[in-house]
Amino acid sequence: MKKCPEQLLVGGLQPLTMIDFPGRLSSVVFTQGCNLRCRFCYNRGLLPDTAHDMLSWKSITDFLKDRQGFIEAVVFSGGEPCGQSVLLDAMREVRELGFEIALHTNGFFPAVVEQALSERLLQFVAVDFKAPFERYEAVTRQSIVAADFGRLADLLVAAGVKHEYRTTVHPGLLSDSDIMNMADWLCEKKIGSYAIQKFKHGEALDATLQPVTAACLQPATLFKLRSRFTDFTLRADASDDAILQKVA
Ligand code: SF4
Repeated sequence: MKKCPEQLLVGGLQPLTMIDFPGRLSSVVFTQGCNLRCRFCYNRGLLPDTAHDMLSWKSITDFLKDRQGFIEAVVFSGGEPCGQSVLLDAMREVRELGFEIALHTNGFFPAVVEQALSERLLQFVAVDFKAPFERYEAVTRQSIVAADFGRLADLLVAAGVKHEYRTTVHPGLLSDSDIMNMADWLCEKKIGSYAIQKFKHGEALDATLQPVTAACLQPATLFKLRSRFTDFTLRADASDDAILQKVA
């Protein structure tokens, strides 16, 4: 049964970005609520199911209608968008307005993504890969179903939809060996696009996590990653310049 997108819990709107859906001028809708509690999460305000300053769906669609012909796409990010019962209804409305759609997900809602793919609602999917499965609970503080994560990868590859897997690296949470184990899994699943994101210190959920001042991975690890994926990206900072040059 069709539900009302007005029930979508929206915690924020970023009017303009070129980063969150590569190659597209996009707006980002941040949904409220998440099933995980990643220690490095800096979106703590989006984690509860409610917040005092949420935006109405009407205000989002009014914003988008004013920018038809200028904005090319809408990114649903969070929080975890797929945890929202009306996400697909909201996506249908956005497609009807003429925008492409990207989804950022933590990867544990394959049924939602399968339905969205079957309706051709999605043009890009970014999936956070937090840790080797046996270490997920230590990093995300929640139990997970690894089979769901695997099913999502199979769906994305079978559908041929553009996608990127990405991992935030804090050396206190993930080792180079963890990353290579994760890369093995991605390659087995025939995922061709992988990004490493260096932990950025700020309002991390786990306040005991220290800033990462050195390079987050060894040059040899980056070299192997670059050679294994069709599209490999390192999102780091100035302190990684030297290591970037070594693997260039
Ligand atoms: S980083 Fe983890 S806890 Fe934070 S919004 Fe993403 S999945 Fe949820």
